[in-house]
Amino acid sequence: MASENVAPGEFELISRFFKGPAEQFAGTALKHPKAMGIGDDGAVLAPLQSGEQLVMAMDTMVESRHYFPDMDPAALGHKCLAVNLSDLAAMGAKPLGFTLSLAIREPRESWLEDFSKGLLGLAQQWDCTLLGGDTVRVPLESAETISVAALGTVPTGMAIMRSGAREGDDLWVSGELGDPMIALTQDHRDTKLCWPQPRVALGLALRDIAHAAIDISDGLASELAHLMRASSAASSTNLVARVRLEALIDCLGPRLSSRLAAGESPRDLCRIAASGGDEYELLFAAPAEHRSAVEGLAKRLALPLHCIGRVTQSPDESAFSWPVIWEDAQACPLPASEWPKAGFEHF
Ligand code: ADP
Ligand code: MG
Repeated sequence: MASENVAPGEFELISRFFKGPAEQFAGTALKHPKAMGIGDDGAVLAPLQSGEQLVMAMDTMVESRHYFPDMDPAALGHKCLAVNLSDLAAMGAKPLGFTLSLAIREPRESWLEDFSKGLLGLAQQWDCTLLGGDTVRVPLESAETISVAALGTVPTGMAIMRSGAREGDDLWVSGELGDPMIALTQDHRDTKLCWPQPRVALGLALRDIAHAAIDISDGLASELAHLMRASSAASSTNLVARVRLEALIDCLGPRLSSRLAAGESPRDLCRIAASGGDEYELLFAAPAEHRSAVEGLAKRLALPLHCIGRVTQSPDESAFSWPVIWEDAQACPLPASEWPKAGFEHF
């Protein structure tokens, strides 16, 4: 955790906004007499329970690329951790702790205070302890960058991979889709865009239910393709997802639903829902015998879980280079030009 720059006030900043508040609710990760959080060259964690594996995830947020410079700092703090907890959730992992790298142009006290509150509020909710980090100054003309690396735990062998889907599995997606994408192009004010709720409880429950899971932060269509490709490769079969575009109607968030009520084409709205990113929902594949378990889970978590299609063997290896077939009401595949594909890619 090398610091390139010892700006005046660096240590006071760390102590006031991160070390002090983090110590107020040090959780499971530090519950051991020989454990140590922020303050030394590295954190020393409590030993894992026997039979546990660590899961690690990391996400970087770049100013003007992943967030608007005027974003509410509390929401930004929340979101920097939430996107990582969403990755842990997709693995079926229980959050344990995280580190924070903050590359900022200048320390702004009220910004730091709000950022820290948003960040540590979510951390406390999931017993995910801030264990350390790095704080550096970037040139005035540079974008600010915030990276979080998060640690979670799973019972050995129980992590849910994106590669585990099998022929015959149902495909499920949590929550509602599309509104963050609409908000991005309009007012930027959307609860799911600014304060995404990682589906941690769902991920934990899916350990015993799902064959495969992925979080759909880059959009349902592209993440589903990743899941199918990984599962095909792992099973040496040519798997294809058949998704009923109409099933997505039930997944539309409030903004898209009101456009549906105003008469816009359901097919167009479903395409938006399937293509839009900034979704922190889980997509998972589960065998049909677990259908009632999934429905019970939706009730227990008060979280809608929508069955949107199923995993099949490709009827013809050469026919489908894209591993997702979108079907309309008559179970006809949509023409290739209408398949939602796009997901966000940096390069
Ligand atoms: P070193 O130079 O020894 O790597 P630093 O001076 O970078 O340590 O940081 C001092 C302590 O503060 C370390 O324990 C580090 O993990 C922690 N730290 C630095 N920045 C942050 C931050 N943004 N959030 C939480 N902890 C931080
Ligand atoms: Mg250092």
